[in-house]
Amino acid sequence: MQTHDIILIGAGHNALICAAYLLKAGYSVLLLEKNSIPGGAATTEEIMPDRAPGFHFNLCAIDHAFIHLGPVVQELELHKHGLEYLFCDPLVFCPHPDGKYFFAHKSVEKTCQEIARFSPTDAQKYGEYLDSWQRLISAITPVFNAPPKSVIDILTSYNPSNVKDLFSLMGSDRATLDLIRTLFTSAEDILEEWFDAEFLKAPLARMASELSVPPSQKTSAIGGMMMAMRHHPGVARPRGGTGALTAALVRLVTSLGGKILTDQAVTKILVDHNRAEGVRVAGGQEYRASKGVISSLDAKRVFLQLLDAGDVDGADPQLRHRIGRRVTSHNDAILKIDCALSELPRFEHHEHRDEYWTGAVLIADSVDHVELAHSDPHIGRIPDENPSMYAVIPSLLDPSLAPPGQHTLWIEFFSPYAIAGAEGTGLQGTGWTEERKNQVADRVLDKLATYAPNLKSAIIARRVESPAEISERLGVEKGNYYHFDMTMDMMLPFRPLPEISDYQTPIQNLFLTGAGTHPGGSISGLPGRNCARVFIREQNPFAVVGQWFFGQ
Ligand SMILES: Cc1cc2nc3c(=O)[nH]c(=O)nc-3n(C[C@H](O)[C@H](O)[C@H](O)COP(=O)(O)OP(=O)(O)OC[C@H]3O[C@@H](n4cnc5c(N)ncnc54)[C@H](O)[C@@H]3O)c2cc1C
Repeated sequence: MQTHDIILIGAGHNALICAAYLLKAGYSVLLLEKNSIPGGAATTEEIMPDRAPGFHFNLCAIDHAFIHLGPVVQELELHKHGLEYLFCDPLVFCPHPDGKYFFAHKSVEKTCQEIARFSPTDAQKYGEYLDSWQRLISAITPVFNAPPKSVIDILTSYNPSNVKDLFSLMGSDRATLDLIRTLFTSAEDILEEWFDAEFLKAPLARMASELSVPPSQKTSAIGGMMMAMRHHPGVARPRGGTGALTAALVRLVTSLGGKILTDQAVTKILVDHNRAEGVRVAGGQEYRASKGVISSLDAKRVFLQLLDAGDVDGADPQLRHRIGRRVTSHNDAILKIDCALSELPRFEHHEHRDEYWTGAVLIADSVDHVELAHSDPHIGRIPDENPSMYAVIPSLLDPSLAPPGQHTLWIEFFSPYAIAGAEGTGLQGTGWTEERKNQVADRVLDKLATYAPNLKSAIIARRVESPAEISERLGVEKGNYYHFDMTMDMMLPFRPLPEISDYQTPIQNLFLTGAGTHPGGSISGLPGRNCARVFIREQNPFAVVGQWFFGQ
């Protein structure tokens, strides 16, 4: 029987980041990962070595924005372990069916000049619109960088510039109420309030809806920050792909003495007298943890699958019911398409420039188009009659990902996890079959080809992954890549439930991290960092003083 101070379940980027902080604090750490490589939704792999040798694909995450709001990369000195971020500029291109287009550069001024070609009035407002989101991002960032209920931690995360931005938003009763009202409203309402032109509103709605809700949904206005963050602090991709972030973390963790075991699916968390003692993996091997078990799997999997019901009920008789019924995971998942291309797709009807492909290409013809892209999946319909999508050619910014002159194409298409009317068939009873996912992929590529006609002839090979397959690969419920919904009711001290939002659980020595905890999904590393802080503080209450003064 092997014993470590801490066992981490899963080795996605959040678990690795959590492990790195714990190792630095002197604990021995073992990570157990079910897949044969670490990284979870942060890997880059040569997935078609026979048909497309030398092409490396980001199977999930591509664009890293949230991680630049926090201190993880700098604090862990990840550049010393091989991580190099390539910032995107330009940021976003969205062609409109009438020949207009939205083309955003990192510079707000340059972006306004592009907008002014088609809508001078909207161009004037774009800078002001971004400024309001920038101040909100600055005001809220310290909250992301601290455990959500730790008032002192949050307050000590503020610097004068955050405070100034906070006061600029809440300096008077009217400003404060206006801000609260904005947060209650929808992305669509906010865009209507600011802009006239559809070619601009549609991509902004699509970007806001990256939080996985239709733009008409009340409280989705906060999605406005998704575009603002791209301008500042920026959106970047690790050289070598998203997997290079994982590789740097693995190097750091192992150099600090951490141990990562792959092909180790945890099937049980072992509890004795309300205290987590270790875990059992498939095959029966057990591992003991003397100080703590930290799960980067979401609370549903932990409390409804990995723990004995009696252990949970003994700690909190309400918890299983509340997690089962109150914590939500919608049906809006991702169908992923990866292609190896012989050449760059060209936007013939939109004054093609290669640099359109440097950042994200959004296919969003109207706000209604984006609406259906999310509302259809919510009720089990595949919105593939007229697909909206997020497409990237990662190899343009980073040619190391493909053979010389050739390219990789990454497409995210929102689809239902469970298809209405096909219940009980296909993978996991979701209705997804090989045939169906390929039919949908054909339609998605057909739509992109209406904008870039040379796309189809450029495809050397492709791989399609259905929401059900992503769900199985990552082990997440309903293919939810954020583990749980990212709506306001499930954020901050509500994530995943108020009583377990501080990374701690009613079972002693059992902690939660990962996308299902504050501040949520995406590549940020903040759930991992915040959880490590809470764990260290629990072990040594005096460590809190060091955390406040020295930040680590
Ligand atoms: C297609 C797609 C595209 C995305 N694009 C972006 C993007 O561009 N930008 C962005 O910021 N975010 C993106 N995301 C979201 C982002 O990748 C995730 O929210 C984030 O990576 C979650 O990280 P995590 O470490 O919390 O969890 P995960 O990455 O889910 O890691 C959890 C780990 O636990 C392992 N595991 C599961 N069950 C067990 C078990 N029983 N025992 C042991 N191990 C287990 C899993 O294999 C996995 O390695 C995307 C996600 C997907 C699916």
